[in-house]
Amino acid sequence: MRVPAQYTITQPLRDQMVKTLALEGVKNKSVLDVMGALPREIFLDLGFRSDAYKNSALPIGESQTISQPLVVAIMTEALQLEKSHKVLEIGTGSGYQAAILSRLVRRLFSIERHPSLSQVAVKRFESLGIFNVVTKVGDGTLGWAEQAPFDRIMVTAASPKAPRSLLEQLTVGGILVIPVGDPAGDMQMLMRYTRTETGFEEKSLGPVRFVPLIGAQGVPEAR
Ligand code: SAH
Repeated sequence: MRVPAQYTITQPLRDQMVKTLALEGVKNKSVLDVMGALPREIFLDLGFRSDAYKNSALPIGESQTISQPLVVAIMTEALQLEKSHKVLEIGTGSGYQAAILSRLVRRLFSIERHPSLSQVAVKRFESLGIFNVVTKVGDGTLGWAEQAPFDRIMVTAASPKAPRSLLEQLTVGGILVIPVGDPAGDMQMLMRYTRTETGFEEKSLGPVRFVPLIGAQGVPEAR
């Protein structure tokens, strides 16, 4: 990753953000290091850049949001990533979460349903010298069968339940992290599914709030 020199100016804000994340209980050093190095403002429109280091979700266009840094950190940590992993992300959005994942694993595949968001995210990856992210526009609830199986899958939008296709595209030992619950409700539960030889182990990781996962195995698209 090449971070342009002009972003040195916001380094103290990132250092402060990382301290806060650690105080909130984020322990994984690689996750904290990457979040401390990657300028979040790059993933925001000009009007929101001054809010980049507040611990809040922010609009990114198409009525979508970039998640708050603490949620990004918790979800990334929950994936228990290794450098050798092949990972799938559903909901490229601004590209912030994807950029973080890309620094921690071998290759990231990321699917976004809004072409405009995907295009902007790809430009951001290029400008940062990130070359191990492969993107596509489409319905991520179906996964990416041609590239499966994945060691890890992260869904950054809320679904009534974990899409069957995504569970099926995990390796044995693979982990899916996804917000599950009524996407129209106030809160969903962040869930972790680990594939075993015989089925799936499930663990809830705490309440979160996400935009809906819209697609064939998520929330039906409004007509
Ligand atoms: N990871 C993003 C979060 C964006 S919000 C970031 O770091 O900025 C969730 C994103 O999921 C939105 O961009 C939304 O358009 C997208 N999304 C919702 N349903 C989807 C689906 N079925 N397939 C792919 N993307 C989807």
